This record gives sequence, structure tokens and C-alpha cells, in this order.
Amino acid sequence: MSDLCSGGPVRRPAGDPAPYERGAADLATGRRTLLQLGGAGLAMSAATAGLGMEHAEAVSPRTRKRAYVFVIDGCKPEEIDAGLTPHLMRLRDRGMRWSRASSMPIMETIPNHVMMMTGVRPDRSGVPANSIYDRSIRDTRTLDRARDLGADTILQRLNRQGLRTATVLSKEYLYGIFGPRAKRRWEPFPIIPVSGHAPDEFTMRAATAMVEDYDPHLMFVNLGDIDRYGHTDLTGPTGVRALRNLALAKTDNYIAQFTRMLVETGRWKNSMMIVLADHSMDWSYPHRVVSLQGPMDSDPFLAGKVAIGDNGGADLLYWLGPAAQREKAVRRMQRVAARVDGVHAALPRTKKWMRLGPEAGDVVVFCKKGWRFSDPDPVTSNPIPGNHGHLVTRSIPFFITGGHRSVQRGVASADVAHTVDVAPTVADFFGVKGSPRGGWDGRSRL
Ligand SMILES: [Zn+2]
Repeated sequence: MSDLCSGGPVRRPAGDPAPYERGAADLATGRRTLLQLGGAGLAMSAATAGLGMEHAEAVSPRTRKRAYVFVIDGCKPEEIDAGLTPHLMRLRDRGMRWSRASSMPIMETIPNHVMMMTGVRPDRSGVPANSIYDRSIRDTRTLDRARDLGADTILQRLNRQGLRTATVLSKEYLYGIFGPRAKRRWEPFPIIPVSGHAPDEFTMRAATAMVEDYDPHLMFVNLGDIDRYGHTDLTGPTGVRALRNLALAKTDNYIAQFTRMLVETGRWKNSMMIVLADHSMDWSYPHRVVSLQGPMDSDPFLAGKVAIGDNGGADLLYWLGPAAQREKAVRRMQRVAARVDGVHAALPRTKKWMRLGPEAGDVVVFCKKGWRFSDPDPVTSNPIPGNHGHLVTRSIPFFITGGHRSVQRGVASADVAHTVDVAPTVADFFGVKGSPRGGWDGRSRL
């Protein structure tokens, strides 16, 4: 098991022969082994300790309220319907729903999960994308280290109130960036090679076991199958999406089993369940690939001085030349990118509405619908058909359901809810007073 206190990236031990089979064996021998429990008293790393762990506020943890946040990774709002996902549809229609809900830039997994748990935008958390160019190591990398996250989370806020918190996250990089923030954490396992995520079957068993064994007040769950089968689904651009549809139906069933468990164990009447996605999904054919490294390097002024963080539907461009030339370089990068086929927009990173900090580089380029970026190499860097990160992948399902009286029944709102609303909603549900320094960027949806 990785040492989370080091804050380093999560790596599986080398030479693990067949993780999926080992995971299946774990299931056969009992669920206990599914729970990789970090000690509740685990010491926080120096970097994390500075994020507002001032003192416990001695609030009784006796409240019966329970909040479950389920992220159906990469799900499109219209995919929740009577055909493939009848249980999700019923849960949505019986609770409070927002049909115009939206992911936020960059429409990627890590930043939107961070927004959910912090309630603040990337210019305040330091987490704007999945993939960035890290100037300190002069290389691109995934934002998957616990110390990358520079804002307080609702997990820590509830910990300080004496409440129990848990994360059950199917993706290794999510497990990495949230680090030791929840009191208990499931380490995703078994991991499907390449995709870097645990199948929903295992994740949901872990979530169920977490509730039965630990009964957290707040549990944050990521279900990765729908996203992962979407990314690799070669029938995606045709609209057939065979693998993805199978994943939708299965995940719907797992959610139904989970809610049944809540009802049968008497938890439902005290529960609020937030179900949403972190972004949606778009598919592209192999000939609709944008690669910007070549055009940048063909420009005499920019050549050799531009690094790119490829986020599927969004490229982040970093000027590596002299700081005094940055303004000129930004304009030049915009101009060069805007001329490339498949580019929707090339914007200075400082555009106010995006709320991205310096980690996101100097220029943000979004591709058009039906296209994807592959950088730096036009062929090998991003061969998969399904992508997100661009503006067309903004819309997400977002609903609040559950048996607790604070959840209204059968209410549809025309407001635009956002991923960043999750933390203030959870805080409001538990009656936790106060907000982060500088206030929430989202708002409670209760
Ligand atoms: Zn995602």
C-alpha cells in the first residue's frame, strides 16, 4: 500500500500479476479485505496540516443524518432515462433535480471532484485540470498528489466537527489527490490496467461495506465504469455505444442495490443522496484529432518554448520563454492555435469566467464538438475516441434524493447547478456553520 503521508503519486506494487483476479479472490474470501483502512488518527503531512486543521470543535457526532455523494463519472444527463437507467431516473424524479446542471472548466475529472469537495474554484484550490505542465519538474504530470490540493475540503470540515467521513473512489488519481483527508478511505482495487480504475462492481461493494462497517456521516463515491467504457468505446462516434450502454445499465443496478440497503437498514429516512457527474462525454473519429505542438514549433517565435498539458478536449499551453515576452507569446499562441482545424477557442488563461490559476498555464484551447486533442504527439498521445474537457462536455446530471425531510419531493429547477455546489450543500445539510475564508464559490441546493 502506498504511503499517503508522503503525498506522492499512488503506485501499485510492481509485478502485481493479475489484479482483477486477485480482487475477485478478495471478494470471495470476504469483504473485510476490500477496506484498506487508513488509521483514523493518521498524521497529516506538513502540507496538508496547514489547510485549516485548527482544532476539533467538540460537536457530538450523534446526528443520524447521512450524506452520500455519488459521482457517475462522465454520464450525460440524457443518459438517465427509463430504458437503461430506470432506477436512477426514479430517484431523480422523486427528489430535487436540475436539468441545466454544469461541470466547470476544465471539464475533467480531478478538478471537478475537487470543486465538489472544496466548494471553491480552481484559482483557489490549485487544481484546474487532470494534466498540467509542472514548471518545477519541467514536465507534464497528473495532479494526483495530496499536496496538490491547496484548499480545505468538506471532508476535513466535518472531521473537525467529530463526524465520520469516508471516500470510496474508483480511480487511482482521485485516491491520490484526496490523500488522507477522509477519516476512512478505500483504496481502489482491483485496478483495470491502462484505465487506472476499479470496476463499479468492486467500488459499490466497497461502498456498501463502508456503510455497514463504518457508517460514515459523509461518504464520497466515484463510479468510473461509464466514463472508462465511454473513453474506449470505438462505437462511440456512431452513436451505438454498446459498451457504454452496458456500463450504464449495470451501474444503475448497483445504485438500486445500494439504496435498497439504505431502506432495509433504516438509514434512508435520514439520508440525503447527491447524484451527479463530473463532466459528460464527446466522441471523435481518428481523423478529427487536433495536435498543437507541431504548429507551435513551426512558429519562429514560439518554437521550442511551448509545453502542452493535454486534457482530451482542452489543451493547456505554457510559455517557457522569458517572462518579459509572455504577453506577446500569449497573443501568438492564441493566433497560431485558432488557425488549426478543430479548434473551437483559444483563450488567455486569465479570462475571468474560467477561474483558473497559474497551474493552468498561459493559454487554454478548447476543441470543437466531435474532435479531440492529441499532444504532444498527434498519433500516440491520445488515441482514445471518447473525451471531455471542452465546452460541449459541460452538461451533467445533478439531483438530490433521499428520505431526509430536507430533501424536497419531485421538484425540478431551471437554475444551473454546478459541481462546486456539492460542498456547501453538504455543509448546509449537516448545519455546519461558516464558510471557507473568502466564502463558497458554490451555493447550497437544499
Ligand atoms: Zn470523470
